Amino acid sequence: MSGQIDLVRFSSLDAYREALAERSEVFTARWLWGEHLEAACRHSGRYQGYCSLCARPAEFSFSAGSGEPVNLREELHCDGCGLSARARVVASLLKTDCPPERGHSIYLTEQTTSLYRFVKQAWSAVIGSEYFEETERDRIQAFMRDSLGLDERLRFEDVTELSFADATLDAIATCDVLEHVPDYRAAATEFARVLKPGGRLILTVPFLDQDQQTLTRARVLEDGQIEHLEEPEYHGDPLDPKGVLAFYHFGWDLLETLRSAGFSSAEWCLPWAPAEGVFSGQWTLLARR
Ligand SMILES: [Zn+2]
Repeated sequence: MSGQIDLVRFSSLDAYREALAERSEVFTARWLWGEHLEAACRHSGRYQGYCSLCARPAEFSFSAGSGEPVNLREELHCDGCGLSARARVVASLLKTDCPPERGHSIYLTEQTTSLYRFVKQAWSAVIGSEYFEETERDRIQAFMRDSLGLDERLRFEDVTELSFADATLDAIATCDVLEHVPDYRAAATEFARVLKPGGRLILTVPFLDQDQQTLTRARVLEDGQIEHLEEPEYHGDPLDPKGVLAFYHFGWDLLETLRSAGFSSAEWCLPWAPAEGVFSGQWTLLARR
């Protein structure tokens, strides 16, 4: 059951602004709760709550570097399923839209994470992949086996050129990938191509909730060099100690990009479930083919 996660959906910046104005006490309180909790937790600890994926009371653990605020999105790991707050939101959305017992075919743009392992165990037809240089295969394969206990062949996919046939998947979940893809429009088109009509896309990306326009932080020049337009921002990656460059922080125009790519609907949503350790700032988008 994911009924405990309150999901407010918005189809445009105007609709979002209208909702903020209409329910400002609610949204302000939620935002403050998340902000203050993050700032208050400058240590490691546990948070008692309920995990709807595990369907039982759970403890959500968090840790922070010395003096650093805790990251409520990437922390709050459930003691049952082991998933972070962001991963639990994504798994809950998948569970709602594509219940495991129905045999849906699901694709995750990750294969070496605890989210992939969880989805693989709960659903039958699941495909995961990573983006890597072939010379890195053995190292990543070993990481997958040693840290996650997954003994399967590592699959390569480029989201701008997927190997799947047209209209073959029921759902795609892609977490914090699109901001690292210079041609993210091509990826949006590919996601739409391989999903069946009615198929779901669950997407998490850095999202500027007050901006219509996507912020381009860096771009690839014709000679392959990278030009930085903003301070380079590298995101943590378990497969790459250097981290991965973020080319974008997306604005509301990403919803338009998804619609032009072939999705019939695209919404940004605010998942909220404090009892489940889910606070604002999950940066989740939902689209339907
Ligand atoms: Zn759990």
